[in-house]
Amino acid sequence: MTTAVLGGGLSGLSAGYYLLRRFGKPLTIYEASPRVGGWVRSENRKDRNFIFESGPRTIRPVGLPGANTLELVEELKLEVTPIRRSHVAARNRMLYAKGQLCMLPNSPKGLFGVLPPFTKPLYKAVLRDLVTASKKAKLEDESIYSFAERRFGKEIADYAISPMICGICAGDAREISVRFLMEGLFEKEQKYGGVLKGALISRFEKNKTKDTKDGLFAERQPKLYAQALKQKWAMYGLQGGLENLPKAMRKYLGERDVNVQLSNECRNLTFSSTGVRMNIKDAEVPVEHVVSSLPAYKLAPLVKQQHPSLSAQLLSIPYVDVLVVNMQFPGKLLKQDGFGLLVPPVEKLPLLGVIFDSCCFDMGENTVLTVMMGGHWFDQWFGDRPSPKQILDLATSHVQKMLQIREEPKFSRVHTLHKCIPQYTVGHKRRVEAIRNYIKTYKLPLSVCGAAYDGVGINDVILSARRQVEAIPLS
Ligand SMILES: Cc1cc2nc3c(=O)[nH]c(=O)nc-3n(C[C@H](O)[C@H](O)[C@H](O)COP(=O)(O)OP(=O)(O)OC[C@H]3O[C@@H](n4cnc5c(N)ncnc54)[C@H](O)[C@@H]3O)c2cc1C
Repeated sequence: MTTAVLGGGLSGLSAGYYLLRRFGKPLTIYEASPRVGGWVRSENRKDRNFIFESGPRTIRPVGLPGANTLELVEELKLEVTPIRRSHVAARNRMLYAKGQLCMLPNSPKGLFGVLPPFTKPLYKAVLRDLVTASKKAKLEDESIYSFAERRFGKEIADYAISPMICGICAGDAREISVRFLMEGLFEKEQKYGGVLKGALISRFEKNKTKDTKDGLFAERQPKLYAQALKQKWAMYGLQGGLENLPKAMRKYLGERDVNVQLSNECRNLTFSSTGVRMNIKDAEVPVEHVVSSLPAYKLAPLVKQQHPSLSAQLLSIPYVDVLVVNMQFPGKLLKQDGFGLLVPPVEKLPLLGVIFDSCCFDMGENTVLTVMMGGHWFDQWFGDRPSPKQILDLATSHVQKMLQIREEPKFSRVHTLHKCIPQYTVGHKRRVEAIRNYIKTYKLPLSVCGAAYDGVGINDVILSARRQVEAIPLS
């Protein structure tokens, strides 16, 4: 079968990898920009011993999606930098709330004291879940904020769940679907009338039934995954920066004669009974099957002419803009080490959070921070398009205040990432089902994978590519 992939981000490169494994060649990946990697971008300042990441920096080695990525990392022979669960960056996560830096509890003991910004011990939130009845009418979906507020109270929704959503997708927990992060808990609550009750009952039931194997790793678990479990990794990065992942994937594919065409934007797709014609650089390129890893709003115009309703469904997945400011200061300046801090939206500050890169990874005698701003609130704070200097000044002044730093950053970068994170708002799961059902009903030789559909993290987009490639019918 002749296949093509649209997009050379992590998902598109992964689709290429799995297509090669399943169907062999000919196979071409078309990428609009002059580089691979999409949002993954590292600036490795070897001369100064630090790295700026404008996109992702860590990957979690958790569950099947985590194991799947580690299988790929192992195949590519990449050097990982593990962060174990005992490491300060894994243990210490903070909030900036009510004018102070607050450490989140990192052991069961923390549930019993009153830790700011919370005004009650956290175990009371758990008790509340135990004694609160669930709604009589079963829910299909709701916002993660409303779920947390119903089960655990407003304080948990404001100071635990909302900042977590900012940290993961720069979104507003009042709009994001509970199924985005807590699908299992939500379903247990719907079935058993409480989160804790459900967790206990299903644990008991699980013990009685045999675990089903997924079949992803028929022969053996990836060695790196076994190592991650044994050594208790909480997360990991890659030596030299995360961009080494897409770079290595491109090299791997190139060495196996997969054609990776950079600066080749696809402008239109025309489907027929024999396959699909892609409009690339004004030429019509025919293939039997195309895998799109494009953001949904980028795929929408390509199918609009023939399939306007599919295009409209793709456009219904919203995206947010994020400002990323990387800063380097000479010397060790942080009074409290950790992964970083998140800012709960109730604080009404322009920052989503700050990552302490130089605590996560060894960067010598540097303090390296990444400030994230905007997201769901981008227009409110940055609607009048401030200059990079104004953005840097704003980020610097907040960091100085929050972390009690007096110094100015020596090196910095300001990145405005337009429409970089899809928002899984209430009803997202159904929207994605409708998109895939449409494709199936009209028998379009098209698969869709990537951050728009099956999860926004690196593990998710790689697994999304794998599953979609494996689901392509053999013609
Ligand atoms: C600031 C930020 C921080 C993040 N941090 C983390 C983290 O720490 N850990 C984690 O797991 N995840 C993180 N993520 C998420 C992770 O980066 C994404 O899940 C992943 O990069 C998405 O990959 P993708 O291939 O689906 O999409 P993209 O990276 O968007 O790739 C799509 C590609 O398609 C190309 N394209 C667009 N239109 C066309 C066209 N018409 N023709 C051809 N090509 C086209 C684009 O140029 C792009 O290269 C972060 C994301 C952001 C934005």
